[in-house]
Amino acid sequence: MVLMTALAAFLATPAVGEDTRPQKLNAVATTSIIADLVRNVGGDRVEVKALVGANADAHVYSPTPGDAKEVAGAKIVFVNGLGLEGWLTRLVTASGTTAPMVVVTKGITPLRMADDEHPGRTMIDPHAWQSIPDAKIYVTNIRDGLDAVDPAGKAVYDANAQTYLARLDDLEKEVRTTIAGIPAERRKIITTHDAFGYFGAAYGMSFIAPQGVSTDSESSAKDVARIIRQIKKQKVPAVFLENVTDPRLMEQIARETGAAVGGKVYSDALSEPSGPAGSYIDMIRHNAREFAKALGGRA
Ligand SMILES: [Zn+2]
Repeated sequence: MVLMTALAAFLATPAVGEDTRPQKLNAVATTSIIADLVRNVGGDRVEVKALVGANADAHVYSPTPGDAKEVAGAKIVFVNGLGLEGWLTRLVTASGTTAPMVVVTKGITPLRMADDEHPGRTMIDPHAWQSIPDAKIYVTNIRDGLDAVDPAGKAVYDANAQTYLARLDDLEKEVRTTIAGIPAERRKIITTHDAFGYFGAAYGMSFIAPQGVSTDSESSAKDVARIIRQIKKQKVPAVFLENVTDPRLMEQIARETGAAVGGKVYSDALSEPSGPAGSYIDMIRHNAREFAKALGGRA
């Protein structure tokens, strides 16, 4: 039956509405955010799978045997780099892949942040996607990667990238307007992990996190006491919960300081497609609006 179907398909003239497109290019991205950017550039030509899915934590991810299979079958792999995916090297080795690996942060200027595991030292902050200008660099790296691995699709990828970059320019204007609506002295926020450094640097907000950059380090009682003192002293108006970390710590901090608990924000992963942050653009817009809502701006 399979053979007959294949033979019939071979012999038949394509009928109207019949799917005659060539097989899609298999791509793998490490996170749901990068996968969304790849989808926007790749369009119909590319099938992209995220290893770390919606609402999942890329810092402490444990790859599955299925992931090794996905990587083995991929024609191209997109990774964030900057130390985000500590689990990646082993996965790539296990998969035996020879597919090109595109580090989408290539060309950005990395920020540094406190290294909780080595007090007094700093480390590279991997969360560059939270700045829209940096996300534009992600997009151009994705475009160049697809152009190289699938030259026949170059015109499509270039056009898709151009369209998407224009949408990011619009998003940038929108976010700047949203943040401008927050009184300057109230642009201070507590989040569960230190994921918004690039957002803060790009849009003029201060973020304080009781946990270090990596979600795998538990906050000590001493850290919690310190953060509570800091919130009271700096009169931080709101704390936020993230989709990838345990909300209990933030709830405790809010109780003890009287800070408002803002809505859930999305730091390292998208929501389910039907949720408030199902795409990169929706995520950035949602976060900015939640910050503005809790801090007295116009959301
Ligand atoms: Zn993170």
